[in-house]
Amino acid sequence: MIGQIFKIHSDFYYVNTEKGIIECKLRDVLKKAKTEVLVGDFVDIENFSAGNSLNFICSVVNRKNSLLRPKVANITRCVIVTALKDPDISFEQLDRFIALSELNKIEPVLCFNKSDLDTDGALADYVRKIYSPLGYKMFFISALSQKGTKEFFEILKGNVSLFYGMSGVGKSSIVKLLSDSKNLRIKKVSQKTGKGTHTTRHCEIYSVGENVSVVDTPGFSNIKFDFLMPKEIEKLFREFNKEKEVCRFKDCLHINEPGCKILENPENFSVSRYESYVKFVEEAKNYKEKVKNSGNKSESAVKYNRGKNITKISENKRQLSRKVQKQSIPEGYND
Ligand code: GDP
Ligand code: ZN
Repeated sequence: MIGQIFKIHSDFYYVNTEKGIIECKLRDVLKKAKTEVLVGDFVDIENFSAGNSLNFICSVVNRKNSLLRPKVANITRCVIVTALKDPDISFEQLDRFIALSELNKIEPVLCFNKSDLDTDGALADYVRKIYSPLGYKMFFISALSQKGTKEFFEILKGNVSLFYGMSGVGKSSIVKLLSDSKNLRIKKVSQKTGKGTHTTRHCEIYSVGENVSVVDTPGFSNIKFDFLMPKEIEKLFREFNKEKEVCRFKDCLHINEPGCKILENPENFSVSRYESYVKFVEEAKNYKEKVKNSGNKSESAVKYNRGKNITKISENKRQLSRKVQKQSIPEGYND
């Protein structure tokens, strides 16, 4: 039977199935293979011991995607919530979440909340000018007056949505509204198992309405790009792709390099977007320094290929592909 993991707690995996919630453990074979099992994974469950209610996960269905931060699989929507006012918009945070969604290869949806506080619509116009040319889908809502929420909630249907956003922007209010509209209350997790250890909490998927699920991401706010190389940051900014005049310098970071085409055409970037870009490159530079000083570039353990994260096998355990084997020059062969 196939189901989706919505919570992991120590060694227990909680799986949503057609027969309800099933508590499972991992089969030894998965543990031995060090298979990473994430919240959001679809898994195959077997009941191995008759008379004993222990259920086991015996395999993980191929993932559609898996995010690096937070660690969760099969997310189908990324919603970035920003308040137009109270707190003031942090463009840096907004761009950070956008960049993170780009990194995870999930199209983000920008949700601007508290539109009731933007009485003349000036703030909405301002952000529209920046983000709509980049092709991001935008919603302007008020969780308070419920203006615009109906249309916004439509795009959440049939999705598992991850909400990014600083605290105070209205994420909980939105989720509450979603669950209220279906007369469903969000299940409260029993967080404390005696000692109140918050540090090991995984994220959790909540069903908040008919066909609507959201991911709760505890302690997920202060993310920095200190795990990427500086040159990788430009891939997270669409401005660089739509650029007609592409910078032809291979190693250019487009910050102060003479002759850089990007710098020669500053109108392609809005001021705040470019500031965010520079900020993230700075963070990545710190990472580069660290890697240089420690002497070994820690290669990422997963590689992204055709919509999948593939766990890399360490160099010495890798087998040569058959093609390479066939085409290689036999030992002792001299031209
Ligand atoms: P979270 O930290 O992102 O989960 O934000 P909350 O949902 O806790 O909301 C923070 C504060 O903003 C609360 O006092 C809410 O009542 C208020 N709030 C949420 N949505 C709106 C809105 O659309 N308009 C206004 N004026 N206030 C809102
Ligand atoms: Zn350049």
